[in-house]
Amino acid sequence: MNCIHCRNGKLVSSEITELTYGECIRAFHEARELGCESINIGGGEPLLHKDVYKIISYVSKYCYTSLLTNGYIIDDKVARKLKEAKVDMVQISLDSSTPEKHNKIRNNKNAYSHVKKAVEALVNCEISTCFMVTVSNYNIDELEDILKFATELRVSLVNFRRLIPQGSGNLNFGNLNPSFRDISKFLEKAKSLEIQFNIGICLFPFYSFKNKEIADEYIKSPLEVAEGGCSAGVTGLSVASNGNIQLCPHLPITLGNIKTDLLYKVWFENDTVLKLRNRKNLKGKCGTCEFSNACGGCRAYPYQLHNDLFMEDSLCTEFKASTSKETSYKKLIGN
Ligand code: SF4
Ligand code: SF4
Repeated sequence: MNCIHCRNGKLVSSEITELTYGECIRAFHEARELGCESINIGGGEPLLHKDVYKIISYVSKYCYTSLLTNGYIIDDKVARKLKEAKVDMVQISLDSSTPEKHNKIRNNKNAYSHVKKAVEALVNCEISTCFMVTVSNYNIDELEDILKFATELRVSLVNFRRLIPQGSGNLNFGNLNPSFRDISKFLEKAKSLEIQFNIGICLFPFYSFKNKEIADEYIKSPLEVAEGGCSAGVTGLSVASNGNIQLCPHLPITLGNIKTDLLYKVWFENDTVLKLRNRKNLKGKCGTCEFSNACGGCRAYPYQLHNDLFMEDSLCTEFKASTSKETSYKKLIGN
């Protein structure tokens, strides 16, 4: 596939690398020793890795294990193998409830039919299945249709994600990125529909906390370090297919490589990681916000827009950032 918002952009085959089974398991054990309880296996397309079932089977014995896939090659046989490997959740990328739009965004005329087939196979195998939807100008008006589609297919959760200006998502950001006002309206509506559709709706990382009551608990917490919200360097790290250790898949700042560096050294000693854990280091509204220990904004958004990891998150609907600022961001990136 060649999605118009893909964070990897167009890769040529010489740029594609893969960790071996042994390298994955070694990194996993290092993460376990650090207390890791949840692993998300993503890509590229993780189901193309020759040892993917073996890796899931191993990891799922110790950790909550989810898989992020475009679903293209999932049929009954693949779903059964995932069930046998004891995957906890499969997340499938969906961009629209209509074949025309989904296929256009994915640049593949069969993408939609494969998503449907994949979800049916997974649900038949009683595997918890989730849709991952990148919210863009193409689908922001489709909220109810996407929830209806998910309900019909018996998907248990719909995760609406923000567009990050990275890779192809950066090249197409001007056309794809909804206005701040449209996103605010979308979020308000989404929150009100959860009960009506009787389906899980996740709005992270638009909202990094589910509700104010939870956030209030964080505010009362005596801990000085961040506890929740953006996981980058705080509750999680990411390992790219070439072994590079990153803050998150949307923050390709290389902190080391699992082939040559120890994960615990990065976790406990890397300056950027340590700085991110103290949310007082964040700038602007995020630095002074009473919710910062529970939230912290999305760090990838300002990083990709301004090359500044610590800048305030301008998409924060808690603070109603001005639309004029969004316009200037578009100018900054040449859109
Ligand atoms: S200002 Fe930053 S930390 Fe506070 S709610 Fe908004 S995004 Fe989260
Ligand atoms: S920077 Fe944080 S909130 Fe944004 S995508 Fe990465 S982990 Fe999620």
